[in-house]
Amino acid sequence: MDRIPIGALLRSRGSREWKRWEWQYQQRVRTWADLVRRTGLVSAGADRCRDVVRRYPVSITPYYLSLADWSDGSDPIRRQCAPAAEEIDVSSGGIPDPLEEEIRMPVPGLIHRYPDRCLLLVTNRCAAYCRHCNRKRLWKKADPSRREGYYCRMIDYVSRSPRIREVILSGGDPLTLPDPVIEGILARLSAIPHVEVLRIGSRTPAVMPMRITPGLCRMLKRYRPLWFNTQFNAAREVTGEAAEACDRLLSAGIPVSNQSVLLKGVNDDPDAMRDLLHALQRISVRPYYLFQCDPAEGTDHFRVDLRKGIELMERIRTTTSGLCLPRYVMDTPDERGKVPLHPRCISGDGDAGEPHNFFDNCPEMK
Ligand SMILES: *Cc1c(COP(=O)(O)O)cnc(C)c1O
Repeated sequence: MDRIPIGALLRSRGSREWKRWEWQYQQRVRTWADLVRRTGLVSAGADRCRDVVRRYPVSITPYYLSLADWSDGSDPIRRQCAPAAEEIDVSSGGIPDPLEEEIRMPVPGLIHRYPDRCLLLVTNRCAAYCRHCNRKRLWKKADPSRREGYYCRMIDYVSRSPRIREVILSGGDPLTLPDPVIEGILARLSAIPHVEVLRIGSRTPAVMPMRITPGLCRMLKRYRPLWFNTQFNAAREVTGEAAEACDRLLSAGIPVSNQSVLLKGVNDDPDAMRDLLHALQRISVRPYYLFQCDPAEGTDHFRVDLRKGIELMERIRTTTSGLCLPRYVMDTPDERGKVPLHPRCISGDGDAGEPHNFFDNCPEMK
């Protein structure tokens, strides 16, 4: 896995500092100049990339930086974290808020789309900014969690909504917050009688696995049933450190599931996808969803044609264990939620171009 010695920073790999998540978080690459300096990256569109970073900031932990092959322009890790000129192509489509989350917030930061569960944006900060993120519109905003009463209003809303039985902590990445803040939120939610299940969505096992400390796991264990959803998109992200992080959660009785995004040039061929799913199964992480990449602004270059995605997953389905099969879904802005994508969606002679034609054969889309 240590394929690229990229300077002084990486010489500390494996050191005591390296293993502290606070250090990883402080040492993140935050500018284009810093990225170039630390990786020796040469990019044809360097000027454009500086513009990209002005609009969509960069954030990469030393750990995640060390997984990429910076000499390879098509490296799947690099593709997910390095700014690319395509992000600001005017010709590319996309909308800032494809899932219309902003209009589904009864109180700031709480998305209530389904009757029985809701999702809290507990921060907008992440250890690493994924270039394919469907919430990249939020990166440059001030951290909402600093606002007076931000969490109180969410918790109050949940306590006044008896139909909500499951609450998801998302963001940003909830695990960029200190343990006592996370515990404060979990404790107050779990004290609400109708809240039966808690869930955390965090990419830290893939981008900053040292965040999953024994202390964090001891704390989280007290708030079970607690489900942990993470996001690995490439087999090479499933390192020894990542496996240990997931194992600490699993040992604390916290099931770990994975939500991947289908990404062009990262996991959109059968071998790459199968390697990823098998790697997850080997570390007892259950593949849960594979998302069609949402039409968010600045992510066009990652989007895989639906027909291709369906064919890909059909090939995987027929050649691998059911235990490592995620549900391939497309998220929608309304109550239909995450709609499963089946081969019958393309069984007619429909053209894969336009979703509304495309889904004529797909009962779930009606
Ligand atoms: C995805 C999502 C959920 C969780 O959906 P599941 O299908 O239960 O994983 C809940 N609320 C919102 C707003 C979501 O986007």
